[in-house]
Amino acid sequence: MKVGFIGLGNMGAPMAANLAKDHDVIGFDPVARPDGITMASSAAEAAKDADVVITMLPNGDILRAVAREIHPAMKPRAVHLDCSTVDVDSARAVAALAEEHGLGAIDAPVSGGIGGAANGTLTFMAGGSDAAFQTVKPLFDIMGQKAVHCGPAGNGQAAKICNNMILGVTMIATCEAFVLADKLGLDRQAMFDVVSTSSGSSWSMNTYCPAPGIGPVSPADNNYQPGFAAELMLKDLNLAQMAAAAADADTPMGQAARDLFAQFVETEDGKGRDFSAMLPRFEKRHRP
Ligand code: NAD
Repeated sequence: MKVGFIGLGNMGAPMAANLAKDHDVIGFDPVARPDGITMASSAAEAAKDADVVITMLPNGDILRAVAREIHPAMKPRAVHLDCSTVDVDSARAVAALAEEHGLGAIDAPVSGGIGGAANGTLTFMAGGSDAAFQTVKPLFDIMGQKAVHCGPAGNGQAAKICNNMILGVTMIATCEAFVLADKLGLDRQAMFDVVSTSSGSSWSMNTYCPAPGIGPVSPADNNYQPGFAAELMLKDLNLAQMAAAAADADTPMGQAARDLFAQFVETEDGKGRDFSAMLPRFEKRHRP
């Protein structure tokens, strides 16, 4: 397949590198110049001959602008596969624009972070037509370990923000529980051994334990270098709250997690740190 890849940052560059082993990849990014990827001079140039154009961009406004640029340039029946995390409305608007141009569209945000992108073990949550999903499936198989087709356009983003709302809430709960355990004199290894095999277990505890030296290797073992940066978690929690407001869904835990990550990123030292650095944050605090 000929693949255009637009947005070659922390996630896009390793995803494109994996695809380039089996497919003909042409990239575009206004800033990044990753090794081993043939680069075009514009997004439209990268898109024009492609069977599938992948975008991996920071937000919905940039995605909409790039879609307006590339859709008129794309081949008939080509597919725009957006893997960015954006608001549900932008995903649906881009899918509608693609349809106007006779193109397929899939929104497929990812879970798995930069490690998953490098190792080709991402999980994709996809929204869009069956036909477009089948077209891009071989690319999911290279970039990831799993792709779940969640329904029509926008449903991939819906699945992603619901998942990450749970992740934000469980990470905070895991971090505050470690600090409570510390203050109660409970050894962290014992805490991990119990919780990771009991009903308090979660991905936050079992796979991405926020306590250094406990459980599998995680950003906590690397001085909380991201990993998954706190500001990206805040972005996803904000998207979840935007969607909840639009859909009239009551999400008090998601809202509390958003407020806490906003405080951590904007007024404390959370920016640039992994989202599991909530643990040292709680360590420094006392009960209000
Ligand atoms: P990043 O900032 O490293 O990369 C984004 C890239 O887009 C940059 O290289 C930037 O130059 C490029 N870009 C900006 N405007 C552009 C334009 N108009 N045309 C072409 N390229 C443009 O971000 P990232 O960490 O790679 O994340 C990308 C997306 O993936 C985001 O939506 C993010 O929320 C999501 N995501 C990130 C992670 C993670 O762990 N980093 C995990 C899951 C999902």
